[in-house]
Amino acid sequence: MAEEKKMSLSEETARKWLHERGVEVQDIADLVYFLQEKYHPDLQMKDCIENVERVLSKREVQNAILTGIQLDIMAEKKLMEEPLQSIIEVDEGLYGVDEVLAFSIVNVYGSIGFTNYGYIDKLKPGILKDLNDKSSGKCHTFLDDIVGAVAAAASSRLAHRAQNTE
Ligand SMILES: [Mg+2]
Repeated sequence: MAEEKKMSLSEETARKWLHERGVEVQDIADLVYFLQEKYHPDLQMKDCIENVERVLSKREVQNAILTGIQLDIMAEKKLMEEPLQSIIEVDEGLYGVDEVLAFSIVNVYGSIGFTNYGYIDKLKPGILKDLNDKSSGKCHTFLDDIVGAVAAAASSRLAHRAQNTE
């Protein structure tokens, strides 16, 4: 009964950590809306939220979230060995592993996600702008890519489903 609906520890923790790092489902849904409003004139915010929820319920997405946030926190606490500590702490542009980890999320709903990911990664609207604010004292080297990737994957899911109903 209640057992069936129970969230896994991975999902519960991934959602909790997103919240603790300042990211709400609504923030990601805002990015989905930003990406999709021009393609779907009747787009509703509740559909954006629903698609974000579905992406967050996937195990491979939760794994990427947990791994990325854990690395950000360790860098913030200066718990890593060099040279990795400095690379992640200063969010070195050529590092690239943060993007690679995010691709495991983008991949979940097919290749259209890559276009969406590249687009918001470049424009950095909404919550992505806050996460990239280096003056905050926080390290979001992995989280910004993860949030962009969840939004891109949710956008792909939404686009595929809209196509199927049209
Ligand atoms: Mg990054």
